[in-house]
Amino acid sequence: MPLIRIDIISAVPQLVEPMISQSIIGRAVSKGVVEIYVHNLHDYAEDKFRHIDDAPFGGGAGMIIKCAPVFVCIEKLLSERHYDEIIYMSPDGEMLNQELANQLSLSRNIIILAGHYKGIDQRIRDVLITKEISIGDYVLSGGELPALVMIDSIVRLLPGAIGDSESALEDAFQNGLLDSPHYTRPAEFRGMKVPDVLLGGNHASIRSWRHEQAVDKTQRRRPDLLDTFE
Ligand code: SAM
Repeated sequence: MPLIRIDIISAVPQLVEPMISQSIIGRAVSKGVVEIYVHNLHDYAEDKFRHIDDAPFGGGAGMIIKCAPVFVCIEKLLSERHYDEIIYMSPDGEMLNQELANQLSLSRNIIILAGHYKGIDQRIRDVLITKEISIGDYVLSGGELPALVMIDSIVRLLPGAIGDSESALEDAFQNGLLDSPHYTRPAEFRGMKVPDVLLGGNHASIRSWRHEQAVDKTQRRRPDLLDTFE
């Protein structure tokens, strides 16, 4: 039984499919930790030409994704199971951060709608969408990359998705701090030495060094995080 089922609705499913069959997400899918289904919005078009967009009322540049295909697709999914969230990826949504990824990783079923063109008909947002999420203050051409960014941030938190289940919890942002520096063999490379404390085997000293480094980096780069953490 997967921990979470994710249904992605997209006008360009070819953009999504390679990512969900590779790397951490692909492995989590093949291990059965997560189930991901991609729905082609064109399959829900009303006409034989599979149109899913139309010109905006009131004029202006860009096309708008129509209500009908999205309503038909989402209503079909809702008739089959309960969804915790129906998410629309949008630059004007709530900003994706680690806390939101943590929350979403506890969901059972979620739908993610990737927009395209100028956007989607407002009535879809008013009636069907329960959450709108942005991945940053910039505009991309479609919601597929944002959906994949968010899915990756969720899936790597699921038990069994990554090899060392501890490491996702030690990543940056999990405790309000940025990550500390990491080193691997050799202990000296072109005269650059690994800090002695990491070679000494004293786990308490290593933990405290990593914490100091993380606090120091956070103070320099993201002091806003420290305010929230403290
Ligand atoms: N007219 C829209 C606006 O100004 O907010 C932008 C539309 S954008 C060209 C097309 C689609 O890409 C959006 O419907 C959304 O699904 C997705 N998208 C673009 N930038 C995004 C971001 N920063 N976060 C989440 N989704 C984004």
